[in-house]
Amino acid sequence: MTARTAVAAVFGDPIEHSLSPIIHNAAFNAMGLDWVFVAHRVGAGHAADAVAAMRSLGLRGASVTMPLKHEIAGLVDELTPMASRLAAVNCLFWRDDTLVGDNTDGAGAVWAVERHLGVSIAGARVVVCGAGGAARAVISAVAEAGAAEVVVVNRSTDRANSAASLAGGVGRVAGLDELAGGDFAGAFDIAINATSLGMIDGPKGVPLDLTHGCPGTVMDLIYHPLETEWLLAARTAGARVANGVPMLVGQAAVAFERWTGQSAPVESMLGAVHSELAS
Ligand code: NDP
Repeated sequence: MTARTAVAAVFGDPIEHSLSPIIHNAAFNAMGLDWVFVAHRVGAGHAADAVAAMRSLGLRGASVTMPLKHEIAGLVDELTPMASRLAAVNCLFWRDDTLVGDNTDGAGAVWAVERHLGVSIAGARVVVCGAGGAARAVISAVAEAGAAEVVVVNRSTDRANSAASLAGGVGRVAGLDELAGGDFAGAFDIAINATSLGMIDGPKGVPLDLTHGCPGTVMDLIYHPLETEWLLAARTAGARVANGVPMLVGQAAVAFERWTGQSAPVESMLGAVHSELAS
């Protein structure tokens, strides 16, 4: 590193286990860029300090994680349409002197399905389990990618309604009772888990019972563990599956491109995450 090294960072709390430094430093190295990526612990209520620091220290880009995604959305000069729709920002980048807030989580999910798994979303019938921040990003993005139908299943109905509305005319809510015992091989092309069910130290259980028929493509946003009980069931049923790693890399790849203007070295980024999670 020299006095000319460009600095990018991630803001959030907790931040010690963030994979963003691993992913982005691997990408900078693979591309031979004189950039470095660091993590800063920034707690709730301190997003304005982080944005001020970004401006005064000349950070070239930033990722934003919990608990700041909503707070920071009100502090940038401009929001992308996706960040505005979600009222949540996970990526800060500069357009000349304008600080732009974007949300690349949904684009990461679309990348994971279309580019990593090689499955087209256009015309697909998609079921998304969950209605939290990650689910909202996924629902918006798969609708924008041309899904024929986006069915949202969630424990709390009010959050499900709000999330499904992000898919516009192709979104609807289905109750767990309505889906119980369903043959999802016939009903859906793609199933995505965006709940925390199955996460290490998270709630136990599966988001949707796949024993009566499994969609051809199944993605679980969780990557701790690398394979949840639900993803194992889908893989055993013969589905094409992805855990949360490709989406994580996909959202980072879009951020990398916003910051550097160059195509992201996704294979290096995937390799870095896999080595880290295997260690
Ligand atoms: P939120 O807290 O915003 O949402 C949690 C979701 O899980 C809600 O839909 C919630 O339902 C549901 N849920 C939680 N506990 C239960 C339970 N006991 N039974 C049924 N449903 C439950 O979290 P996020 O949206 O930020 O994250 C969701 C998951 O996505 C996490 O596992 C996270 O690790 C993963 N993720 C992965 C990313 C990636 O790049 N791979 C990126 C971001 C997140 P309700 O609305 O009823 O409370």
